[in-house]
Amino acid sequence: MAQLEAQKKLKIILENYFVGMKAPVAWCTSAGPAEILRALGFEVYFPENHGAMLGATRLAGKYIPKAHRAGFSGEICSYLTADIGAWLMKETPLTNAYGLKSIPKPDMIVFNTNQCREVAEWFNFYGREFNCPVVGIYPPRYLEDVSKSDIDNVVAQFKEVISVGENVLGKKLDPHELEKVVALSYEGTQLWKQVLDTARKKPSPLSFFDGTILMAPIVMLRGTKICVDFYKETLSELEELAKTQQEDSNQLRLYWEGMPIWGRLRSMAQFFNDNNSVVVASTYCNSWIFDDFNPKNPLESMASAYTKIFINRGENTKLAYMEKMLNDFDIDGIIFHDAKTCFNNSNNRFGLPKRLKDSTRIDTLTIDGDLNDLRFFSDGQTQTKLETFLEQLKSKKRISV
Ligand code: SF4
Repeated sequence: MAQLEAQKKLKIILENYFVGMKAPVAWCTSAGPAEILRALGFEVYFPENHGAMLGATRLAGKYIPKAHRAGFSGEICSYLTADIGAWLMKETPLTNAYGLKSIPKPDMIVFNTNQCREVAEWFNFYGREFNCPVVGIYPPRYLEDVSKSDIDNVVAQFKEVISVGENVLGKKLDPHELEKVVALSYEGTQLWKQVLDTARKKPSPLSFFDGTILMAPIVMLRGTKICVDFYKETLSELEELAKTQQEDSNQLRLYWEGMPIWGRLRSMAQFFNDNNSVVVASTYCNSWIFDDFNPKNPLESMASAYTKIFINRGENTKLAYMEKMLNDFDIDGIIFHDAKTCFNNSNNRFGLPKRLKDSTRIDTLTIDGDLNDLRFFSDGQTQTKLETFLEQLKSKKRISV
């Protein structure tokens, strides 16, 4: 796909975000309660985004060994090891990209183990480095159903975030500000959903690989008008683009389950394009759709939204979610990415591919790799596996190749 205008605008938005980041700064996990921090008056920084940046710029390979030497295992999250390694070497891609001397210094750190326990170790490391307060949210995990007591549990923990934040800033949270931020988060997340839903069209104006770039504002700037305006413009651009495209019934439509391989986004996008196929949907990009946000009930609705994320659910709920996605996006085949340093986001390990195949008849393929640590990824083997898989899907669709 030709570069979207939205991608050019995104560069400016990200530059303004990083260059304009001034104290007080709170660090937050990507599905943490950023709305509370923003409403309190913090600028919010997301170390996972920094980890992804290290992967996408292929600097991760330089920094990961430094973290290993500092005692972090080679088998744990390579966002964590790349990010901590870069910190220990006093380097960041934010220097070349935006002229920042260093990553923003935190006045407070908040993590939510709704995604994994790794974030607790990662963020507590920085709490020790910066000697600042760290608040962890530990919700009930791997839930099929989310009960009222689960939500109450998380709301109580959010109140602790508010209390610590108020102490750091020396002022009280304005409840109206929180309502305003949650309303903007809701609007942003619904627009993001509509952006991703443009990929239901045939051919899709958007691929998973575009989505991994365009998702930056919903992760880093949700709860702001900048995010809302960006997705309004992106949506209208994609809708216009979709009108100009001719349907191609031979094109294969794929689903990506698992983490992106950040250092191979471009080459993989090109590979699928060259093979008349497109990854139209993914669990990953859809993970920042939070239907439950409600400004009339900010804390409970946030607790519900952040506890119900896919990664925090049981296998039956994951199966039902994926069945719906496969149907909504008219998927021909599913690619599971077994990311070696993130078992949390590698859903091929407990029989889900077979259960999905049994219930939907849609073929699946598992590829080995990693989000950041490219020692776990083989270009040649992956290409061969994917080529064979696509041939199989094409013959199933009775497409002449
Ligand atoms: S979910 Fe995976 S990639 Fe994300 S922080 Fe946790 S271990 Fe790392």
